[in-house]
Amino acid sequence: MSKDAFARVSDFLSLSIQIFMVLKNTENEIFTALETLIKVPKQKVTLVTHENPDGDAIGSAIGFGEVLKNYGHEVKIIVPNSYPEFLKWFSTDIEILVYDRKKNRGKAILQETQILFCLDFNEVKRTARMEKKVLEFSGVKVLIDHHPYPTDFCDLMISETEYSSTAELVFDVIQLINLGEYINHDAAEALFTGIMTDTGSFAHNISRPNTFQVVAKLMDLGIDTEKIHAAVYHNFSAHRMKLLGHCLGEKMEVFPEYRSAVMWLSQKELEKFEYQPGDTEGFVNYPLSINNIVFSALFIEKKDHVKVSFRSKGNFACNEFARDHFSGGGHKNAAGGETNLSLEAAVEKFTQLLGDYKHLLLETTI
Ligand code: 5GP
Ligand code: MN
Repeated sequence: MSKDAFARVSDFLSLSIQIFMVLKNTENEIFTALETLIKVPKQKVTLVTHENPDGDAIGSAIGFGEVLKNYGHEVKIIVPNSYPEFLKWFSTDIEILVYDRKKNRGKAILQETQILFCLDFNEVKRTARMEKKVLEFSGVKVLIDHHPYPTDFCDLMISETEYSSTAELVFDVIQLINLGEYINHDAAEALFTGIMTDTGSFAHNISRPNTFQVVAKLMDLGIDTEKIHAAVYHNFSAHRMKLLGHCLGEKMEVFPEYRSAVMWLSQKELEKFEYQPGDTEGFVNYPLSINNIVFSALFIEKKDHVKVSFRSKGNFACNEFARDHFSGGGHKNAAGGETNLSLEAAVEKFTQLLGDYKHLLLETTI
């Protein structure tokens, strides 16, 4: 073997060993099966994300989609509903179909799809209006996700909760199925966005060096991380900034005795500030910047329900709180849910519950 070939083989082996050390749940055979499946040329592949897609959902879908497209597949992305403007700057020619706007087209795409990737969600109900179609899908379904408690609705499951983001996991999966050479600049920008947004710009959700190792490899592909950061975070409309001011100034209640804070916004208030999808993204994090606050909730009145976001610090598991009281779930420190109660009743239910959690909240270490 030439020196160069030897170096490449040993690079690959050390990378594989490194990745297998961080992939805890997924058997080797799953990757062999996925590689065999994906290496059949020119297939129709669709990537689907959860409802209200965030940076990780969109970034993972575009990042993986680009790689599959570069390999020669016919790739489409379907999102259940629309996504924010600050995620619409990606350079990609992959069609991103918003299912609740073009149901018939979405159904036709699914009908023709041979492989369906489910990205960044752990239960099919998270695809909202698409749930039935995803369940009925007759081709091969593959899950790639990092949320705890995955349900069994896919043929191949890659569920790794140690990962900061689905995008970080997608990067390693791409290596393990030997498609690393197909990661182009567009894919690298998208995957970086997924990691950046799910970690709050590298502030949380990072438990292992692998996150930064993946970021380093993405930077090797020539991405401009400052440009991406600005595209996502420095493009508030004036209305959105004023809505944030209103929310923090007028609609935040702090409970130091429970180390918690709650905020809530009605439809009327959202209309007043000319709400656009994604405008309240990240608001729920602000109360965690208050000294000694470990649990934060934001209630948003939607047309027919109330959507809740939770964030926590340390070992207070807000996904369990979301699951037990607001039909939701998510990660230990970032979760969400919903309720059919009125906005006022939902906030009241939350504040009443804090007493039951006083012990856990007070003993949380940060
Ligand atoms: P966000 O507050 O940003 O909407 O969501 C935070 C986290 O909770 C994300 O990981 C998201 O996937 C999860 N999440 C949000 N809403 C729900 C929900 O209604 N059900 C479940 N199971 N997870 C949710
Ligand atoms: Mn995610």
